[in-house]
Amino acid sequence: MFYLTEQFFSIQGEGKYAGVPSYFLRTGGCNLSCPGFGATYEVDGEVRYGCDTYFAVDSAYARQWSRVDDSTVLMEKLQQEFEIIGYKPDVVITGGEPLMYYNDKTFYTIVNWLIEEGIRITFETNGTIEIDFDKFPAYKNCVFALSIKLANSGEPASKRIVPQALKNLQNYSKETFLKFTIDKNLVETTAIDEINEIRKILPRLEVFCMPVGESRDTIWKNDRAVFEFCMKHNFRYSDRLHIRVFDTTQGV
Ligand code: SF4
Repeated sequence: MFYLTEQFFSIQGEGKYAGVPSYFLRTGGCNLSCPGFGATYEVDGEVRYGCDTYFAVDSAYARQWSRVDDSTVLMEKLQQEFEIIGYKPDVVITGGEPLMYYNDKTFYTIVNWLIEEGIRITFETNGTIEIDFDKFPAYKNCVFALSIKLANSGEPASKRIVPQALKNLQNYSKETFLKFTIDKNLVETTAIDEINEIRKILPRLEVFCMPVGESRDTIWKNDRAVFEFCMKHNFRYSDRLHIRVFDTTQGV
């Protein structure tokens, strides 16, 4: 059993495969909360702080999530969706933290089926969960966008950087790359030192940096600083296309 918060066809807006038409499955729940990312929301009159997908992280929203108990139902739904689309697009499994469910039977059955269908799956993960690749070999054929959180997430380093889980993903999966969400303040202070520390664990991976910003109103405050940071350090700049085009609208 796992929770889905939304599923929709769109274009990947971030990272190495930005611009690629993709079908998104967003799971519910996360093992981090990232209060430093600047999104504020209210639950029963209480102000809470989180990331731009707080609705897929905070269990206060669980009543709005769909429980997936039967892999067949979701696979049939996906098959219908792909027929309407007219081809089998990439599938992006995001969250929340999708790897919380990696060893769930229903979840794994769907991942395995997508791989057998010849579909490229990209997991967008915070990289803190260690996968047993021997027991669940379908993950060897998946791409992992490692969105490792930095100090600006507001999470302690011991919680957001798990070297063994990161090395495991780098060593056993088909493809991994690093994707950091940074802001102007971090660019001017600790960003390069923090990224270099992580690259000591994962020296082979390409680095993508994208600006913090959950809306058009906020992303412009950080984009230029991140752009120039990438030029200086030979990193790849990643924009956030869905925010540029759709602003804060969910499910696009
Ligand atoms: S790890 Fe990702 S999904 Fe989870 S709280 Fe942090 S930014 Fe949000």
